[in-house]
Amino acid sequence: MKVAGYQRKEGAGVVFLDRDGVINEDSPNYIRSVQAFRFIPGSAEAIGRLSLAGMDIMLVTNQSVIHRGLVTKEGLNLIFDHLRQGLVEFGGRVKAVFYCPHRPDENCSCRKPRPGLFFRAETEYGVDLAASIMVGDSAKDMEAARAAGVGILILVRTGNGRRDLPILMERGLGPDYVAENLAGAVDWILKDGRLPSE
Ligand SMILES: [Zn+2]
Repeated sequence: MKVAGYQRKEGAGVVFLDRDGVINEDSPNYIRSVQAFRFIPGSAEAIGRLSLAGMDIMLVTNQSVIHRGLVTKEGLNLIFDHLRQGLVEFGGRVKAVFYCPHRPDENCSCRKPRPGLFFRAETEYGVDLAASIMVGDSAKDMEAARAAGVGILILVRTGNGRRDLPILMERGLGPDYVAENLAGAVDWILKDGRLPSE
C-alpha cells in the first residue's frame, strides 16, 4: 500500500473515445488505410490536453472492416499507430484500444450499441465505468456507454452526431452534453464536466 504522495487511484475513471467521426473524419467507404485517415481539426490537440490533465484515454470503436475482409488486423493496427503518432506533438497518449471486429449480422456482444467493449476495459484495466466519460458521435455510442453504466455521456456534432441527436432526444436518451466537436467536448470536460469521482 502506497502511503507517500498522491497517486491517481488504480482503476479510476477514464475518458472513452469513439474513433471515426470523433477523432478522424468518417467515411461511408470505411477507413481502410493510413492514407484515408484524417484528423478532424483540433481533435489531436484536444486529446493532448486530456493527457496533460492526467486523464487516461481509451478508444472503443466498431471496426467491422475486419470481418468484412476490407482491412487486415495488421492494417488496422497501422492506422491506430498512425493515430497515436499524430498525438505525440500534443502530448496525447492512448492507454488502450478496444475494437469490435465483427459485422452487425454476427450478433456479437462487443459491437456498439452493445456494451462489451466497455466491460473489457473494466475487466482488463480495472476501469471504474461509473467514474468515466464517453465521447461519441452516434446513438450507438451513447446507448453502449449507457448500457455499460458509464457516468457521463457526451455527443459531438461531427460524424453522425447531427443526424443522431434528434433520434436520441426522441427516445429520451439525450446525452449529458452536446459539443460541436472533440475540442469542445474536452473544453467542457476540463472546465465543467470533471470525472464524476472527483
Ligand atoms: Zn464484436
